[in-house]
Amino acid sequence: MDFTLSDEDRQLRDSVRDFVEDVVNPIWPEIERTDRLPQNVIDTAKELGLFGLAISPDYGGLGLSVVQKAVVHEMLGRGPWGLASYISVHTGIGCTGINLFGTPEQKERYLPKMASGEWLGSFGLTEPNAGSDASSLETRAERDGDHWVLNGRKIFITNAPYAHHVLIFAKAPKGITAFIVDTDTPGFAIGQVFDTLGHKGSAICELVIEDCRIPAGQLVGVEGKGFDIAKRVLSEGRTMLASRAVGSGQKAMELAIEHGESRKTFGKPLLDHQALAFRLAQMSARTEAGRLLAYRSAWLLDRGSPAIRESSTAKYFCGEGLWQTVDDAIQMLGGYGYIKGEYMIERIWRDSRVVRVYDGSSEVQQILIAQRLRKGDVETAW
Ligand SMILES: Cc1cc2nc3c(=O)[nH]c(=O)nc-3n(C[C@H](O)[C@H](O)[C@H](O)COP(=O)(O)OP(=O)(O)OC[C@H]3O[C@@H](n4cnc5c(N)ncnc54)[C@H](O)[C@@H]3O)c2cc1C
Repeated sequence: MDFTLSDEDRQLRDSVRDFVEDVVNPIWPEIERTDRLPQNVIDTAKELGLFGLAISPDYGGLGLSVVQKAVVHEMLGRGPWGLASYISVHTGIGCTGINLFGTPEQKERYLPKMASGEWLGSFGLTEPNAGSDASSLETRAERDGDHWVLNGRKIFITNAPYAHHVLIFAKAPKGITAFIVDTDTPGFAIGQVFDTLGHKGSAICELVIEDCRIPAGQLVGVEGKGFDIAKRVLSEGRTMLASRAVGSGQKAMELAIEHGESRKTFGKPLLDHQALAFRLAQMSARTEAGRLLAYRSAWLLDRGSPAIRESSTAKYFCGEGLWQTVDDAIQMLGGYGYIKGEYMIERIWRDSRVVRVYDGSSEVQQILIAQRLRKGDVETAW
């Protein structure tokens, strides 16, 4: 078995890591204070091609494999989650639907401007009465001549306040269907924008959709098959979140090592105390195991597998593992770990809490894993 990254992948990893460590991490307190991503950060991300990770070079993107995207997301995880979320929702769940299932006309219209970062994408599945049980969504789509008319509410939609368009899921006569809705369409409005515990710099909001008429050509895929699109998009999204969690866990561990080597108690560095050295070893074991799960899921997706159980397993394990690792790191920093705005670990703690909630909570991942196991999918074929 060969775990070597190619030279090209190593270069990709190092350039994103340098961007996060040299450009973004030094200004994380400013992002927290202003709740905005500075323009130079967005511009540098654009120059690196991060807005077009999966989009084919034919449309101006980088055309990365899923494994390569996982490499990028792991590096983004080392920095503020507001930036990771801004980029990842745009290039991931905001883009994959059009990239994989869009018509040639839709790809021609949306992908080049998404790849350059001129148009920001977003993904609207969750509703006030349909979160974990997303298939019970209530937004309706009625056909009217050459148009569809949409009515409903969405909630917690990342990027939507800044987005050019949202992939909206609505119930049409034949079932759940995906539509691209431009945010300047009459009848489409941004409702409440929520203040959140973390993720500063990216915004989540409510969408109010009232008699919103969109051309029939905005339907993505096939009427009634929208939930299959959502599931495919989300299984990749889960793998990316798992990778991001691995990057954050790694960063938290490195912060713990730095503090544990320099801080002395009872006449010696913290890490000379065996109890804390064991804690560090556990952080490392969790992070390494999560990394393997995340990359295996990405590798399977590249080979055309839906990787439903594997992506859920990766997200569940990496999300829960990260929470424990960040808590361990805060414990290592003692009182300093609890100080706001000065030590990055408290930001990681606030940012990462939500990984156990969104894109399918830890409970939902366990439900999906158990369902797959009961259907006979008990072991991944190598
Ligand atoms: C920062 C942020 C960004 C988001 N971005 C987006 C986005 O871009 N697009 C989008 O569509 N959505 C987005 N969401 C929504 C997110 O995916 C949902 O919040 C998530 O799916 C959970 O749904 P809910 O909040 O309605 O919780 P609920 O479904 O009400 O669940 C509440 C709790 O009960 C648990 N639970 C529910 N059912 C069961 C069960 N059967 N067994 C055991 N436990 C159960 C859940 O795990 C959860 O802990 C975002 C949310 C946040 C916080």
